[in-house]
Amino acid sequence: MDDPHLEKGQSGLVQAALFGECPACAERTLFAGWVRFASRCRACGHDFSSYNVGDGPAAFLILVIGALVCAFALVLQVQASPPFWVHIVLWVPITTALVLLSLRVSKAAMLIHEARAEVREGKIDDNTGQDS
Ligand SMILES: [Zn+2]
Repeated sequence: MDDPHLEKGQSGLVQAALFGECPACAERTLFAGWVRFASRCRACGHDFSSYNVGDGPAAFLILVIGALVCAFALVLQVQASPPFWVHIVLWVPITTALVLLSLRVSKAAMLIHEARAEVREGKIDDNTGQDS
């Protein structure tokens, strides 16, 4: 994927989101916790708190992951008819892991996408406090 709007040295959106890269300097400084953004970049000082990602990724992930897990659980039940506790032991940790992993990546993707859109629109001043 070759985005002509990328500055030199910036990764594609997927790679940047996977590694939590700062949209300004591409250092891996986007997260302070597993799914919590840092308030600003530790390398270049870019302000992450002005971006408003909200709950968009969570709602989308609930639908996608819920549908996938239900489908796999139904297939397992039809194919093997395991006791009910097998479903609990299997799907609770798998669902939790999928949500935590994909929430981190999708939140990063949304913030990076928003930041790059602002650069394209010419709103590159960090102190304007963009509220979208
Ligand atoms: Zn940075």
